[in-house]
Amino acid sequence: MDFEPISLPDVPAKRPIVIAGPCSAETEEQVMNTARSLSRHGIKIFRAGIWKPRTKPGGFEGVGAEGLPWLKRVKEELGMYVATEVATSKHVREALANDVDILWIGARTSANPFAMQEIADALEGTDIPVMIKNPVNPDLELWIGAIERIYNAGVHRIAAIHRGFSTYDKKIYRNLPQWHIPIELKRRLPSLPIFCDPSHIGGKRELVGPLCQQAMDLNFDGLMVESHCNPEKAWSDASQQVMPDVLDFILDTLIIRDMTQSTESLEQLRKQIDVCDNDLLELLAKRMRISEEIGQYKKEHNMPILQSARYEEILSKRIFQAKSMGMSEDFMKTVLVAIHEESVRHQMEIMK
Ligand code: PEP
Ligand code: MN
Repeated sequence: MDFEPISLPDVPAKRPIVIAGPCSAETEEQVMNTARSLSRHGIKIFRAGIWKPRTKPGGFEGVGAEGLPWLKRVKEELGMYVATEVATSKHVREALANDVDILWIGARTSANPFAMQEIADALEGTDIPVMIKNPVNPDLELWIGAIERIYNAGVHRIAAIHRGFSTYDKKIYRNLPQWHIPIELKRRLPSLPIFCDPSHIGGKRELVGPLCQQAMDLNFDGLMVESHCNPEKAWSDASQQVMPDVLDFILDTLIIRDMTQSTESLEQLRKQIDVCDNDLLELLAKRMRISEEIGQYKKEHNMPILQSARYEEILSKRIFQAKSMGMSEDFMKTVLVAIHEESVRHQMEIMK
């Protein structure tokens, strides 16, 4: 697949290309106030969800087609480009009829090949840029498949949006970044622009800035950030939206390191090492939390912390596995003993 850049007149092609706006269009006033502030801060592409896929029924499911004229007003009065999410062929038709400039496909939709094909069929013969979020589950092939369906419909101005992957364990992130997946997507589809959505990865305002920086360090092309004129009062995703002036500050303080070297460069490889280390830390922290739960169980059932048979079994199984993966017995033993020691320390804290 050979993608064309989503180049828009008046939007500089330099990194990062920023798309910002509220999770949802709520009222005409909220849309206009947010868009006006963002425009004053130099944002050229406005996002707002009109049709909202909510996890459970009964929540705010978006204002629907009623919000489309509000987006039109943003275009006409502020000269911004507007983007909204589509999940069905009806959404596509209504958005196109109302001059929406960019469509995006949400994570719940890109996980569903039937929905993707329906959208692709509705796009046949148009040339609107389409952005495709990763599916909720960490399945790179499913993501590529969704992209391929849109590409095969003749739409070649496509970008991917990395918004993290669902997890049962929502301690730090709302959706785990698993950066190696978008990195691998870039390797597989080098001409595909990739945006990062730090808002849905982080789920909390405080994480938006650091995640934007990480995305820039990993050479992402752009950012899609949720911004609301009154985030605490937002009707959806209130805890992750930032005020337009906060977004402006985040963008102003971003460090953009421009990579002129090839992808095989040392710099690029080191970034991948950083990503691996980050994943290792996340996993270790998760392992410690599980071990603490085991500690709690042992305490309630009057069991000793050290279960020698289980420890021996872990050691021999993992060492065997590590050897088949090209790592030495000594190395694996050192790692496992250290992890076990820390784990016992956590359980001792609980017994106390
Ligand atoms: C959104 O962008 O508001 C949204 C619903 O995102 P996602 O599909 O990533 O959950
Ligand atoms: Mn949202």
